[in-house]
Amino acid sequence: MTETRSTCPYCGVGCGVLIASEGGQITGVRGDPEHPANFGRLCTKGATLALTAAPPIARQTRLLQPLRRLQRQGPAQALGWDAALQWACDRIAHILHLHGPEAVGFYLSGQLLTEDYYVFNKLAKGLIGTPHLDSNSRLCMSSAVAGYKATLGADAPPACYDDVQHARCLFIAGSNTAYAHPILFRRIEDAKRAQPALKIIVVDPRRTDTAEIADLHLRIEPGTDVMLLHGMLHLMLREGWTDTRFIAAHTHGFEGLQTLVRDYPPQLVAQVCGISVDDLTLAARWFAGIEPGESRQPTLSLYCQGLNQSSSGTAKNTALINLHLATGQIGRPGAGPFSLTGQPNAMGGREVGALAHLLPGHRELANPTHRADIAALWGVPDLPQAPGKTAVEMFQAAADGEIKALWIACTNPAQSLPDQATVRRALQRAEFVVVQEAFATAATCDFADLLLPATTWGEKEGTVTNSERRISRVRAAVPPPRSTGSTDNGPRHDWAIAVDFAHRLEAVLRPGQATLFPYPHPESIWNEHRAATRGRDLDITGLSYAALELAPAQWPCPAGATSGTARLYADGIFPTADGRARFDAQPYQPVAEPRDARYPLALTTGRLRDQWHGMTRTGTLGRLFGHVPEPALELHPQDLARHGLQPGDLVHVASRRGSLIAPVQPSDALAPGQAFMAMHWGAEFLGGSGNSSGSGSNASPGSGVNGLTGAALCPRSKQPEFKHSAVRITKA
Ligand code: SF4
Repeated sequence: MTETRSTCPYCGVGCGVLIASEGGQITGVRGDPEHPANFGRLCTKGATLALTAAPPIARQTRLLQPLRRLQRQGPAQALGWDAALQWACDRIAHILHLHGPEAVGFYLSGQLLTEDYYVFNKLAKGLIGTPHLDSNSRLCMSSAVAGYKATLGADAPPACYDDVQHARCLFIAGSNTAYAHPILFRRIEDAKRAQPALKIIVVDPRRTDTAEIADLHLRIEPGTDVMLLHGMLHLMLREGWTDTRFIAAHTHGFEGLQTLVRDYPPQLVAQVCGISVDDLTLAARWFAGIEPGESRQPTLSLYCQGLNQSSSGTAKNTALINLHLATGQIGRPGAGPFSLTGQPNAMGGREVGALAHLLPGHRELANPTHRADIAALWGVPDLPQAPGKTAVEMFQAAADGEIKALWIACTNPAQSLPDQATVRRALQRAEFVVVQEAFATAATCDFADLLLPATTWGEKEGTVTNSERRISRVRAAVPPPRSTGSTDNGPRHDWAIAVDFAHRLEAVLRPGQATLFPYPHPESIWNEHRAATRGRDLDITGLSYAALELAPAQWPCPAGATSGTARLYADGIFPTADGRARFDAQPYQPVAEPRDARYPLALTTGRLRDQWHGMTRTGTLGRLFGHVPEPALELHPQDLARHGLQPGDLVHVASRRGSLIAPVQPSDALAPGQAFMAMHWGAEFLGGSGNSSGSGSNASPGSGVNGLTGAALCPRSKQPEFKHSAVRITKA
């Protein structure tokens, strides 16, 4: 038996794992006691990784060879890699010839490794010349990205996990940490045990398991976070709890924010948010760190999709960061705004520029200097000059016939994007759909013209970056599985598929020239990525694979540094032109689709403790259904009674975009008028339909809970509002 050091592929905590293997098969997984993210601990999902990788399960779920459909509704035929990638090259070259580069879009994933991401980004923006490359990180972290940049000047979470132990107040907003980041939650529990005086505030419309640990649970009305946060600042100003010295020395724009929050008096805020003035005042005092007779105590904010997945996601992020700047709660142990990454490598994707508006090294497509930097590094004459279409926009453009070819890697948009009726229209209308995927059970596979089998956790080499900017190695413990009967089959690494395809397309687009993709292994890609970060806020020129062999490290870590950087902005200097942070004054906006008489329930979606995304991996294991065995629409008991429903009764749940059938369950974690359904349940669990015409005719098959959710976007981050959809129920 051998043990291979690697990283858990699920959430942004980024726990280290030791993979046991024997005879080319994974036989066990345990937490890596030396990894600073988890010190040996694993949650249920991480601890069962070996079981989900067992050969009997893999044989049922994995894609093992390239498959081609010559007609969408027809059977898929196996073919070799050479024929598959040449066919992809011919089809995409033809589309480029007829329609130009912007007819091609790439949709990637926060579960790709950094090296995979880097190659795809170069393929799209450097070789093909399309800016339309985005990632499911758009659904997860783009409001956090926009919030950091608007206030602090760079997309960089300033705090670290150790800050949980140093904080005297934890402000957990829009995050069910107990389910979505379980090992980080263990740290919170440890901190509370070690110092019972630690104040924990949880802001969430639901009384989640995370809220159970709170000293103060602000059970606000869905979507009213900005109102709450501005109301807290109003009180801080009134009571003299702000840090005027920090504001004067390190920030700009406080006057405008002061003027704005005058319109958020406590009584109004309490009424709109559905909380008491006393609780609002207590939250403001605890956040400011004001305790009689003591110096200011540190406050750490932990926040996630409740802030991000909103039509005002950026405003929610900046309103929270405003509080940190106004009270000087940043840059010191136990203090700072700390966004929690949903996926294992959403951070790595942002670092290599794999979002529609970005370039490597936290550069922007719209910035001529940044374009020139990367064009020089890549050896290409130019790059697209404007940001491309973001995730939801890209699928809308494909549904409209504007984007003709979609290449989807390591993500499952036919389940995970909102407004599934539009997504399915896009996948049906696109002329050529490539799905690069490890699991044949992903719903998007049904829409592919070409299916390319990819390797997955336990088989891949590369790097990931977790929520606290810590880069860890991902290592292969076993070879990928092979199907029988051919030597030219079996899954390939994501980066290698992209490189092989790029070489073929180069022969068409730049014949006779040296390749832009001279990568024999992931380390060569990593080294080019490192070079792209030189002198940038995330400089990792000091982090070779050899350095990462010694220990995972937090960026920045420039060449010559002896260690990474645990905490940012300790010197009070921010990565803006003059070194000062900026307050961002944005008024409160209600949710995009308020409840009304026709759709009187506010539906929110979220994670379960033991499932992951579309369940392609976790759904293979019976024991992971022990916590929640089947889908349900959770409602307050009063709402069940009002509709004459008993627990387990089936209801039609309908929004303006589609409907599904699900059993109901009572939950007093919700307020009356609210509904909750986990995001994981796909079409195989839920009957229903989408409204594919937008005018009432049901024409697409059931698509899970995202058949109900809408595509309202935050205007700044373009992140969709998963956390609030107006729905109605009728007994089935
Ligand atoms: Fe994996 Fe996240 Fe659980 Fe850690 S907390 S074991 S990274 S799922």
